[in-house]
Amino acid sequence: MSITQNIADIRERMAEAARRSGRDPEDILLIAVTKLHEPDEIEEAIAAGITDIAENKVQEIQKKYDQIASPVRWHLIGHLQTNKVKNIIDKVVMIHSVESVHLAQEIDKRAAAAGKTMDVLLQVNAAHEESKFGLDPKDVPQVMQEILDTCPNVRIRGLMHMAPWSEDPEEIRPYFSEVKKLYDTLSEVEHPNADFSYLSMGMSHDFETAIEEGANIIRVGTSIFGERDYSKKMGGM
Ligand SMILES: *Cc1c(COP(=O)(O)O)cnc(C)c1O
Repeated sequence: MSITQNIADIRERMAEAARRSGRDPEDILLIAVTKLHEPDEIEEAIAAGITDIAENKVQEIQKKYDQIASPVRWHLIGHLQTNKVKNIIDKVVMIHSVESVHLAQEIDKRAAAAGKTMDVLLQVNAAHEESKFGLDPKDVPQVMQEILDTCPNVRIRGLMHMAPWSEDPEEIRPYFSEVKKLYDTLSEVEHPNADFSYLSMGMSHDFETAIEEGANIIRVGTSIFGERDYSKKMGGM
């Protein structure tokens, strides 16, 4: 199947999941995860209506940024080292992977230097997986407060979550609903730089469950572009 056809299928499934949860499909953003995919594939996705793309590595954004001619918004969704913030601060519209005050402070510094305010999501690791980055849900309110207190050029727009891999969506549904509850609680925080609008959760194998539980951004790679070829991974394994 073609990338165009895959995107049409995903939009259909997104709409059904949105309707099941009583929401407007228009309110859910599909971000195409383009890691390890080539510029011509990305252009095809944009031609099929994709407005937002995401990479998990700073180097891939740097490499591809000028290769994509069509207008598109870039997101960073992977672990971000503080020394690399400067390389993407002028390229991405949102960083989904903020998981420490220290990282937020570096983003703040670089955003201030660039004369902008950076939109970020706080990454939550609800399943406490060792293999994944992200904050323990119980630590999120405190970290958020410290960021709000110390980072005038960082605007917190919501939460990001990556569920454990599972065959059975019912096994991971509780994680999505836990993160949604946390999102709703933190939405009440009143601060000029706390502007909760985005709950980024759901990937190829679990986006319908994530939407049913309240996600309004899904990040989909494999179901759009097919399996990734990890032999192309930059810098080796
Ligand atoms: C790779 C990646 C995705 C997309 O995963 P697929 O299973 O290919 O849809 C989503 N989120 C993050 C953080 C990723 O690194």
